[in-house]
Amino acid sequence: MKGIIVLCTLFLISCNSTKKIDCNNNQEHSMIFDGKIFTSLYQQNAAEYRALCLQAYNMAAIRLDQFKPTTKLPKAIITDIDETVLDNSPYPIHQALISKDFNSDSWFEWSSMSAADTVPGAPAFLKFASKLGVEIFYITNREERERDCTLKNLIKYDLPNADTNHLFLKSGTSSKEIRRQKVASTHEIVMLIGDNLGDFSKLFDKKTSQERTANVDVSLNEFGNKFIVIPNPNYGDWEGALLKYNYKLSSKQKDSVYRNFLKTY
Ligand SMILES: [Mg+2]
Repeated sequence: MKGIIVLCTLFLISCNSTKKIDCNNNQEHSMIFDGKIFTSLYQQNAAEYRALCLQAYNMAAIRLDQFKPTTKLPKAIITDIDETVLDNSPYPIHQALISKDFNSDSWFEWSSMSAADTVPGAPAFLKFASKLGVEIFYITNREERERDCTLKNLIKYDLPNADTNHLFLKSGTSSKEIRRQKVASTHEIVMLIGDNLGDFSKLFDKKTSQERTANVDVSLNEFGNKFIVIPNPNYGDWEGALLKYNYKLSSKQKDSVYRNFLKTY
């Protein structure tokens, strides 16, 4: 009798351990809200996040030292702002705690406070580059109405070239290609810094997840050289690609789409 009970128990354990979990099964925790709080917690508290940012900016300094100009044009570094120079992690936490997703008006409320902290390593690196005579151009998809508050936030940390001529905001398209070309028409671009692949090349504009991954491999030699990537677990075009860039979906619909990409066993 004892033997039969042991066998049955073993059978039940083996059934449980091989039963595949359905990623759509447990939806009481939203990836949009709980997920953003957790990734922001990482951004604000993980020493590993800090180390990754410092690693990226250390690499940028090494590459800048090694840079050999090929033209007589003045040298420039193109950098993104959000989650590259400025840390906006309080915003997604604020939104998630009131069960709201990103929207441009609430974002504007946050950005107009000019209260963002800096990403570790960014101020020191940009000041170092500036001392070497390299101009910094900030190319961001913040809106025109954010011009003053953005400059105020950059000036707060005494960041170089924090003036209206070096700040390229979004006008029309979210692609940064035209703005990059504008800088390249007058300057030799030493490097580009960003947390989103669209900060580097049009190869990544509005592409599917598979195309983005394939194009990272195409650009393999640029990363850690001309392209310096800052970690951002919280948001980016990687999300947009999963949503097929349909940002009009409700947070529940987005959650559902994301779950289809989860892998478990
Ligand atoms: Mg960014």
